[in-house]
Amino acid sequence: MSRYWSAVVRGLTPYVPGEQPKLPNLVKLNTNENPYGPSPKVLEALRAETADTLRLYPDPNADRLKEAVAAYFGMAPKQVFVGNGSDEVLAHVFLGLLKHDKPALFPDITYSFYPVYCGLYDIACETVPLTETFEIRPADYARPNGGIVFPNPNAPTGRALALADIEQILAANPDSVVVVDEAYIDFGGETAIPLVAKYPNLLVVQTLSKSRSLAGLRVGFAVGHADLIEALERVKNSFNSYPLDRLAIAGAVAAMEDREHFERTRQAVIRSREKLVKDLKALGFKVLPSAANFVFARHPQRDAGDLAATLRAKSIIVRHFRQPRIEQFLRITVGTDAQCRALVSALREFLD
Ligand SMILES: *Cc1c(COP(=O)(O)O)cnc(C)c1O
Repeated sequence: MSRYWSAVVRGLTPYVPGEQPKLPNLVKLNTNENPYGPSPKVLEALRAETADTLRLYPDPNADRLKEAVAAYFGMAPKQVFVGNGSDEVLAHVFLGLLKHDKPALFPDITYSFYPVYCGLYDIACETVPLTETFEIRPADYARPNGGIVFPNPNAPTGRALALADIEQILAANPDSVVVVDEAYIDFGGETAIPLVAKYPNLLVVQTLSKSRSLAGLRVGFAVGHADLIEALERVKNSFNSYPLDRLAIAGAVAAMEDREHFERTRQAVIRSREKLVKDLKALGFKVLPSAANFVFARHPQRDAGDLAATLRAKSIIVRHFRQPRIEQFLRITVGTDAQCRALVSALREFLD
């Protein structure tokens, strides 16, 4: 705390990202990165963009990328917003679409950046408890609100919501924006983007960080009615005109275009997840059904903090949230089969 800090900064409770330890030979299963590299076509596009043209500003509207995202989903470019990671897209969403007199609603167990944005932008918010089995119950969102946001699949539970349930929430809330954060949708859920044509209050947010292996490039996007997108453009153009640099635009376009690499790697992650779930259950873990590239698991006889510390001593890092309702769970990213084997044998050794 310094006397030079503004009152706003004094009042902030910042998000704490999963750690990025600078140690060699880590089995890093704590931040849901993709274990496979990005498409070779992305690397080629980045190399081509590494040129004298870097002296020039990038396209402030990233039109090529909006066109690539729109083409991928069969939408119009004016229905697409792009940003520096979906975290930035979400920040603009909170300020531009969720700040109203009535509170924004999100689940009690969810992405912990949501309450942080509410703190930053002074947005009224209320949490809605998940059920005993950590599910979103659509009927719980039929109450006065200034907007609704939740991930599908939810994080850190991994549980997916069916499109019919999302439709129920949309239909019950025609006067507020419903934001579906689909950071993990490509690992088993069903995207709500086709519902955009029917619901002008739906905004779907996705990222290239997880299923397209580009956490390091920082690219996310939103798809929704052009009026919602215009609100985000107004915020963006009041904050940073060039959130996506030349490399990010070129790499992201190539990633959206290479469907073959995308399909192959996401299927590999899904296969590894099914094997990991089976192995964890064989060790006595209770594992929530996951449609994401991570699993959320607890062991009835072992303390989650002890398990995380034991794994860490063997250079295997998983995420443990010291938070009510979930302090006995570990969130484990699905790695390569070799990384999953290392995790399972370390756990087996400890449990024996
Ligand atoms: C990873 C994640 C994001 C942020 O992704 P970036 O695009 O890397 O900023 C957003 N929402 C959820 C639920 C996530 O898990």
